[in-house]
Amino acid sequence: MSRTLAEVAAEASTCTRCRLAESRTQVVFGVGNADADLMFIGEAPGFHEDRQGEPFVGAAGQLLTRMLGGIGLRREDVYIANVLRCRPPGNRDPLPDEIEACTPWLIETISIVQPTVVVTLGNFATKFVLNTQRGITSMRGGVYGWHGRKVIPTFHPAAILHGGGEKSRQFLDLQDDFALIEKTLRVVPEPPPTPAAQPQQAVPEDQQLELF
Ligand code: URA
Repeated sequence: MSRTLAEVAAEASTCTRCRLAESRTQVVFGVGNADADLMFIGEAPGFHEDRQGEPFVGAAGQLLTRMLGGIGLRREDVYIANVLRCRPPGNRDPLPDEIEACTPWLIETISIVQPTVVVTLGNFATKFVLNTQRGITSMRGGVYGWHGRKVIPTFHPAAILHGGGEKSRQFLDLQDDFALIEKTLRVVPEPPPTPAAQPQQAVPEDQQLELF
């Protein structure tokens, strides 16, 4: 029988699988509805997340919360996690062995939540999840089949804030992507019983992250 998210999070809270255990304040496992249809995956906790123990609580998180509100959703309606559960010092990029050590937590989280739609926030999460070298600017705007689910890549909210904010062209794209998320949620059926993904666009499944 599969574990509950609370059980997995409790085990993860003492994780020492990589060097980030030494520098973190705490493990930032994830937050939200364990039965959500929609899951967001960011890169890694930042300063505020490391302090508060919750993903996306800083300025980028506040923008994410506003974007959710724009499509009639609250943080409690979705599940929010990161590729990494611990903050890399100084917010440096995650290292390959840290990602490898942390991936089982992400896999188990997805297996429990069973989201029908996964939104990857920014270049890092998108490249990791869809195992592509294509950048977010070319990936966004599409819906990608992935292990029987749908992946919608969009800009990381921090990139919007650092790149011109709500007056920027990227913010308009972010709004379009949230409209796409809303539309996709309305049409997706329950996840199929088998994890056979049918890519609807570009990234062949045999090149995607082997999660299941
Ligand atoms: N950026 C991320 O990728 N994740 C967070 O939780 C916060 C900022």
